[in-house]
Amino acid sequence: MSALAAARLGYRCHVFSPEQDGPGMQVAAAATVAPYEDTEALAEFADAVDVVTFEFENVPAETLAAIEPLVPCRPGVGVLRICQDRLREKDFLTRAGVPVAPWRAVRTEAELTEAIAAIGLPAVLKTTRMGYDGRGQAVLRHPAEAAPAFARLAPKPLILEAFVPFVAELSAIAARGADGATAVYDAVENRHRDHILDLSFAPARLPAAVAAAARTHAAAVADALDLVGVLALEMFLLPDGSLLGNEIAPRPHNPGHWTMDGCAASQFEQHVRAVAGLPLAAPDRHHDVVMLNLVGPEGMARWPSLLQRPGVVPHLYGKAEARPGRKLGHANRLLPLGSLAGMEDSAALEGL
Ligand code: AMP
Repeated sequence: MSALAAARLGYRCHVFSPEQDGPGMQVAAAATVAPYEDTEALAEFADAVDVVTFEFENVPAETLAAIEPLVPCRPGVGVLRICQDRLREKDFLTRAGVPVAPWRAVRTEAELTEAIAAIGLPAVLKTTRMGYDGRGQAVLRHPAEAAPAFARLAPKPLILEAFVPFVAELSAIAARGADGATAVYDAVENRHRDHILDLSFAPARLPAAVAAAARTHAAAVADALDLVGVLALEMFLLPDGSLLGNEIAPRPHNPGHWTMDGCAASQFEQHVRAVAGLPLAAPDRHHDVVMLNLVGPEGMARWPSLLQRPGVVPHLYGKAEARPGRKLGHANRLLPLGSLAGMEDSAALEGL
């Protein structure tokens, strides 16, 4: 989707990926298929392009570090290192002024016992790295669950977080240009199914002050990271209206896919503008949007009917296999600007 946005701005993309026939390659001008560790292929790639970005935060930091001396990388490896490690990320959010749930680093079973004593239960034990869509985590409700969860997730470094009794999960997408200007989209409410994003409601149906705070947090994180690119800040909304930061994704992110059809300039276009050194576009919304993810065979089964719904814009990524749990596409249902605020879920989801 970034490559498509880049093409519309007159750029030619060159995709580097260990995976043959990835969706990006189907729409890019050039591709290199090589392991992330192939320094020769990386050097040739760096030589062939003017600027490098990434769309997946599990690209090894060493890969980006290998090419950063050769070609501008936006965002840089420093941003990637922070966002790849939940401990650094939590520290960073706190320093950027975004509150987070109480947490402790856990390396041993004894440290887990101490962390539970400090934080209490329920709590969530997570691997500090490479976790997404709920992988690499366990909710602990009783002390007896600690040892089996530790055995399953160790020896990877872990983090224990207090369980947050959130009333909603929110995301705000912020773009930041090479000149330090920021453009922040309206915050959205996310709903998950089996730990995978199912729906985003744009804008989130929240009091204006909460929505504004979510956007301010995202902009503050982008500034503190000295980001050039796009990030998504995932947050929890507490019953008292306050927000806690959960995760930073330093790239265009699924809860921002609504911007493709709800705004004149999508998150992907902002990303390209930022990394190419162009001015950012206004992040204004021209429609309210409900975004539905198409996940696995079940999601694909909805495709034929979605194609026939007026006001629904369907997107399919061209992935080779419809494996269960895999995000294959999404559909944006467009609603008149301002109409979502007064709508029940059943009306907002009609036809999706
Ligand atoms: P994460 O990989 O951190 O985004 O977590 C995946 C999902 O697990 C989140 O979207 C939440 O639904 C849930 N979750 C993660 N951390 C917590 C927490 N500390 N308290 C409650 N739920 C959580």
